Amino acid sequence: MSDTPLVWCPGCRPEADQIAEMLETLWCGTHMPERAGADDGAVSFGLDPGTEAEQSRALCAFVHRDRPAMGEGLLSDRPMDAVG
Ligand SMILES: [Zn+2]
Repeated sequence: MSDTPLVWCPGCRPEADQIAEMLETLWCGTHMPERAGADDGAVSFGLDPGTEAEQSRALCAFVHRDRPAMGEGLLSDRPMDAVG
């Protein structure tokens, strides 16, 4: 058959013989393993890169803001009270 597909999604056709049919593994959007791109190209998933970055930044700011705020408050509260 000349209509033999060169690409092959293991999720769509698990019974296909990749080696015998000389298929090139190409996951479709449904079966694409997210782990593979989670570390590398998760940005190209359709989500706005800016959104994720903004969320990360907001969370980072919140986390880093909470720590010094608490330590500073506890530390500066005592000397201030003692002095004042
Ligand atoms: Zn598939």
